[in-house]
Order: sequence, then structure tokens, then C-alpha cells
Amino acid sequence: MTSNGRRLVVHRLQTSGGVEMPRPNKVLIVGAGIGGLCAATALARIGVEVDVIDIKPDNSVPGVGWGLRTNGLRALREIGLLEPTLAIGFPTPPLTYFDRNGHHVVDISYGRQFDGMPNNVQLPRLGFLEMASARALEAGCTIQMSTTAVDIEQDSDGATVELSDGSSRRYDLVIGFDGINSSIRRYLFGEKYVPVRSGGVAWRAPIRAPDTLKGAIFCHGFGGKVGFVPLAGGMMYVIVTHHEPGRPRHDPAAFAETMHRVAREMMGDSDFMSAEIDSLRTATNVAYTPLDTVLVPYPWHRGRVMIMGDAAHATTPYLGSGAAMAIEDGVVFAKLLQSDDSLYDVQTKFMARRYPRVKTVWDWSLKMMHEEFDSATPEALDRRLHYLVNEEPAAIDYINRVLESDY
Ligand SMILES: Cc1cc2nc3c(=O)[nH]c(=O)nc-3n(C[C@H](O)[C@H](O)[C@H](O)COP(=O)(O)OP(=O)(O)OC[C@H]3O[C@@H](n4cnc5c(N)ncnc54)[C@H](O)[C@@H]3O)c2cc1C
Repeated sequence: MTSNGRRLVVHRLQTSGGVEMPRPNKVLIVGAGIGGLCAATALARIGVEVDVIDIKPDNSVPGVGWGLRTNGLRALREIGLLEPTLAIGFPTPPLTYFDRNGHHVVDISYGRQFDGMPNNVQLPRLGFLEMASARALEAGCTIQMSTTAVDIEQDSDGATVELSDGSSRRYDLVIGFDGINSSIRRYLFGEKYVPVRSGGVAWRAPIRAPDTLKGAIFCHGFGGKVGFVPLAGGMMYVIVTHHEPGRPRHDPAAFAETMHRVAREMMGDSDFMSAEIDSLRTATNVAYTPLDTVLVPYPWHRGRVMIMGDAAHATTPYLGSGAAMAIEDGVVFAKLLQSDDSLYDVQTKFMARRYPRVKTVWDWSLKMMHEEFDSATPEALDRRLHYLVNEEPAAIDYINRVLESDY
């Protein structure tokens, strides 16, 4: 559904041919999230005229922080966003697992360092969107909030997009970066690929960080964890992940109280990080996110309309790489466009390059979640901690190498 209550109209798509479609000069990006804004800058830097629209009135977003590793930082460097990102980021050492009594379990590496860049930076969500919006505008893009596409009609020369503000515009290409509940994905594929429940949920809240917190720490409890992740400016976000069967309704007015209860249950009567857990009771800006996933195995394009980022491949946050994959998508696509290839050839090369990498990240993110949840009894938690010490470092080293490899 669009902001004015209308449904995106589906017109017959031109799926064949396309070979003759030249490189796009004018692109509409639907979705001013992390992926859409970075793609806008990437495209503008190679001379493409870019309009961005977003259904939201402003940059507000659930959740306060997210982490970006070397691969995401390298992609940002390619489009001139590394320095402003590092300026608002908090570089963190390897994350440390503790058991719920505060006993050290294992340090988990974020991989190797490249070119003097940190191998992981924690970023404020709102701050990053504000920075990326400003940079996209500086690069010449337009950004129009409170706006969506209500109709797209393709012909051999372009796509006519009717916007919710009543205007109608012509583009060479429309890219849906409109997140897990993408209306552009629905436009392309109907209800064939829809988000499914992974069974996991995440609670997140910003609170003040203790001075002693220099890196992320995860405390493993029964069937989930409580994480404390430092941000710049003396703040941190607390994240609680656990298995939640079904989809219970939680009263938003009681989110802080509920998050506190869940975190306390996870930690038992341990004193470890007790003051911080208690302060969740009065936390504001608490986000509750059921961890749904979607993966489109079919090429993410049909004619002059395509999807990228979470619209094509949303996964759980266990590898902390969903946003990095969205950023890589836009950067790789802009790079491939700098050839004499037709749009269709670029699209197919893009799919061949992106799909295997994204699928690996998608699979691992789910695998890691299920391993965490398989700790609901004292015996299972013992097995899990044993696994974390003895097996996880090798598994993490492998997936870190995958992430570090060329995107
Ligand atoms: C708990 C949690 C923790 C995470 N932690 C990390 C992490 O540490 N590192 C990491 O790399 N990733 C992380 N992720 C994943 C990351 O947040 C997503 O992968 C990333 O935000 C995807 O970017 P995107 O631009 O594709 O989509 P989104 O960020 O969802 O942006 C989509 C945009 O499209 C807009 N939109 C939606 N519908 C329409 C419409 N019809 N018309 C116009 N606009 C529309 C939305 O308003 C939004 O602005 C985490 C996710 C969760 C849930």
C-alpha cells in the first residue's frame, strides 16, 4: 500500500529483449535507506541523474546502531563516503562472548585489517542516514520524502512512474531499495517472494555506556543473548536476541519494561552488567523487530525495474552484514554501468556477481541464529559454549575471509 492508500499498479512488463537498452542516464531509486542513499551517490558520481523517493516523512528509523566491517567500508571508500563514516563511527576491537555470569568465553574476530581501515565500526543509524542524504544531495541527487511510486509502466524507451504526489516522470531505470516489505518486489513478482518469519526477534535500546566498555560484548543466556555494543559519544545500544515462536503482540507503550524482563530472564540472577540491564526499564526509543527474511533467487530485474538491498535479500542480523550487502549492491552496479554494455548485460553480470555472495551471507546469518537458539536448556547451553570456544573461531575465520573477498 502506498502513502495515499493506493496500490502500486502492475502493468505488463517487457521481460525479453532488453539487449538493446542502452546505459541509463536517469534513474529513480525508491527507498532512501542505507542502500538507496549509497547507490544514489555511487550512480551520481558516474554522471547518472538520480532522484530518490521515500515513503517516510524523515530519516527516523527503528534501532540506533549497526556495525560495518571492512568490506562495507571499502565499498564506501569507492564512493567517497569512508571519511564521513569514520567521523561518526566507533571502531571496535573483536567482540567478546561471556556466559551469563560474566565469565569470559571467547573473543570473536572481525577479520583482518586492510589499508589501515578499522575492521569494524559501530555507527548511529540516524547519523549515517543524515550523512548519506547530505552526500547524495551534494553529488547532485534529489531526495523527496513522503513520496512513493503508485504506478510504473514500461515501454521500449523507458519507464513512466506516477508518484503519490500526482506527478508523472520518465526514467531509464527504476531501482527498488525499499526494504524487506518492498512494493517494487511485489510489482515485479507479485506474492511469489514474501518475507517469512525466521522465529527470532531482536530488542534494541540506546543507553549510556559504562566507561569500561571498549568493544561489543555478548552475554549468552538460555536460548539467546544480551549484547552491549558501544557507539560514539559515550552511548551504547543493548541488543537482546532470542527465539519467539508465533508472533505475540507486545504493547509499544511497555516495550522498555518488556525488553528489561526478557534481558533479565536471559541473564538469570547474575550481577554482570546488572546496572545497565536495570536501566533498560526507563529506556526510550526501544525497538522490537521480528527477524523476517526474504531471498529472491530469480534475477532481480525485469526490463527497466529492479530491486536491490533488503528488497531482494533481507536476512537476520547475526553476521551484521545486511546493510553492507545493500551498500555493495549499489557500488557494484554503478561500477558495472561504466562499460559499453547494454543495461541488460549489466543487469545479468550484476546478478552473476552478487547472487552467490549474497546467498552465502544470507545462509550464514540464519545458520548462526539457529546455533544461538540451540541453547535453551542447561545441557544445550553447555554444548553451545563449548562450540563457541572450540569451533566458532574457525567458522568465523572462514566467513570473515568470504566477506573480505572481492564483492
Ligand atoms: C536488529 C537488526 C540489526 C542489524 N544490524 C546490522 C549490522 O550491524 N550491520 C549490517 O550491515 N546490517 C545490519 N542489519 C541489517 C540492515 O539494517 C539492513 O540490511 C539494511 O538496513 C538494508 O538496507 P536497505 O536500504 O536495503 O533497506 P532499508 O534500510 O529497510 O531501507 C528501505 C527504505 O525504503 C523506504 N520504503 C519502504 N517502502 C517504500 C515505498 N513503498 N516507497 C518508498 N519508500 C519506501 C523505507 O522508508 C526505508 O527508508 C540489521 C538489521 C536488524 C533488523
